[in-house]
Amino acid sequence: VVVLERGWLSSNTVLLPTPGGVAVVDSGYWTHSTQTVELISAASGSRPVTLLLNTHLHSDHCGGNAALQARHPQMRTLVPAGLAGWVRDWDTSALTYDPTGQFCPRFSISGVLQPGTELELGDRRWQVLGAPGHDPHSVVLFEPVSRTLISADALWANGFGVVFPELEGQSAFADVARTLDLIESIGPALVIPGHGPMFDDVTGALARARRRLAGYEASPSRHAIHAGKVLLKFKLLEWQSASAEQLLDWADTTPYFELLHRRWFGNEARRSWVERLLHELVSGGAARLESGMVHNV
Ligand SMILES: [Zn+2]
Repeated sequence: VVVLERGWLSSNTVLLPTPGGVAVVDSGYWTHSTQTVELISAASGSRPVTLLLNTHLHSDHCGGNAALQARHPQMRTLVPAGLAGWVRDWDTSALTYDPTGQFCPRFSISGVLQPGTELELGDRRWQVLGAPGHDPHSVVLFEPVSRTLISADALWANGFGVVFPELEGQSAFADVARTLDLIESIGPALVIPGHGPMFDDVTGALARARRRLAGYEASPSRHAIHAGKVLLKFKLLEWQSASAEQLLDWADTTPYFELLHRRWFGNEARRSWVERLLHELVSGGAARLESGMVHNV
């Protein structure tokens, strides 16, 4: 197994050996797709890439799908069953690319990953487990002999991904809790997260994730602020530098900011609310503001 740990704009990519070649899990953000294709080719050597699996279809996990499909025409692509219809119709709203103000080149699929089934890759059988919360249809992959978990954005060393259904007014914190319980119950020895380094202190990670979740449950507006900052930071990771005006204009036309603002901060002018988020990114050290320009840090 080869893990390509990426910067936060792109998800990690995992290469799993199969009898006929290599299976790839997740493909990063589209702006990195050339690099992703090259990294995968370098890591797979002479073995053909025969299979692409996506844990879920956020833009930072499948943005390299189209480029990989172009490079490896024989490769099959499987996505979580609950998302397949939206890919076939290329519904960029349901796939969250429109509401997040992100982009993903269109790709095709050959089949689905059904939660509760197993995936036979060589002499290893990977369990496909439903992991709702961060995304209602996300799956995680677990190999019970080595007790290796590919956890996507359901569990990181320090927390988990934004709980997107909550932005749309659907309660999903309980799903996050159930998914953390599921992860605890299968007892992984090693976790390959969707972002950041691999870790084996699963007990510590679960405790940190549950503390974070309890904080969000106690104060959902904290989660809303966090989500807004994550969306801003993501765009800044993509652009690296932009004028504050440009970033605020982008947020003005990005639906999730409208939703978050209306639901939690409607008593404040929207642009000044986003400006406040930007200043929090700056004071937290995630961005630098210099003569009207915002720079990624
Ligand atoms: Zn995600």
